Amino acid sequence: MRAVRFAGDGAVRVGPVAEPVLKDPADAIVRVRRAAICGTDLHTVAHGTSLGLGAVLGHEFAGEITALGPAVAGHRIGDLVVGGDFTACGTCWWCRRGDHWECGQRRFFGTGGAFGPPLDGAQAELVRVPFADTVLRAIPDGVSLDAAVFLGDTLATGYAAVQRGGLVPGDCVAVLGGGPVGQLTSLVAQACGAASVVLAEPIAGRRDLAVREGALAVAPENARELIDRLTEGRGADVVIDAIGGPAGLDLALATVRRRGTVVSVGVHTGPAWPMPVADAFAGELTLRFVIGDFLRDADPICALVRSGAVDPTVVASETVPLDAASEAYRRMGERRTLKTLIAL
Ligand code: ZN
Ligand code: ZN
Repeated sequence: MRAVRFAGDGAVRVGPVAEPVLKDPADAIVRVRRAAICGTDLHTVAHGTSLGLGAVLGHEFAGEITALGPAVAGHRIGDLVVGGDFTACGTCWWCRRGDHWECGQRRFFGTGGAFGPPLDGAQAELVRVPFADTVLRAIPDGVSLDAAVFLGDTLATGYAAVQRGGLVPGDCVAVLGGGPVGQLTSLVAQACGAASVVLAEPIAGRRDLAVREGALAVAPENARELIDRLTEGRGADVVIDAIGGPAGLDLALATVRRRGTVVSVGVHTGPAWPMPVADAFAGELTLRFVIGDFLRDADPICALVRSGAVDPTVVASETVPLDAASEAYRRMGERRTLKTLIAL
């Protein structure tokens, strides 16, 4: 079969690879119909340290089950399903709490050894899915493949950010960063009753998209001024940092109100960040770090899309065949596209 594979030196190439087979009774094999390219893929390929040469990339996928191990009880061959971006056993202490990310069986599709033992990715004609009863979810009626491919990671992250932010109707929500996660976070916040969503983003085209989709958009340096106008100078009730790193956290603390909540879903890899603890203490600030968990949140995420409250496809800038994935990676890396879907 063909798959998107790490070619070394920051590049990917579409090439042949052996078809996956069932290895464990809880496995499924899925024929991928849609995959998506994610910022995590770009980062993983650019750094390359966790990837073996030839590793199959991709962790966002939807498709059709073609084979099932004997222990899988919740799916049938031919079912259309969407996958989470990582695996978990579904039965350990962490999984029973809904903290699948902490499962000892966690493996993240298509990212080499970055987040657990390597597991071949889903930008491929077929993908092997361990713990299929936990990792796969039937695509609800009325949800397209183009929408479904967002559920497992991008929308799961946006949903977790809003939910962990403790948003209540009427809140002013600031979303920092207008990448795919930031855009979908804005949609979820609106669907969950935010009175206003301010999306801070330096790229004009990304601000335009946010405005078309119901947010107020602003350059980051002007974010506080706009938020002050909306909140009588208090600051945002909830700030969701979808940038990551010190810049995202600094802007979050500069825009949140006293006794407000900052949720960071941007990626952090640096060792430390100087937090202004005296202000944070006096203002009784809440700061949370959040990782999306489709395995936990699949029900509300599916409901948001099925009801029409959120249409994640608005962030898809192009759909390409598998053979064109290499150039699509490059365009997305150069920020000429926002989010690429791969149709198989
Ligand atoms: Zn992703
Ligand atoms: Zn577990």
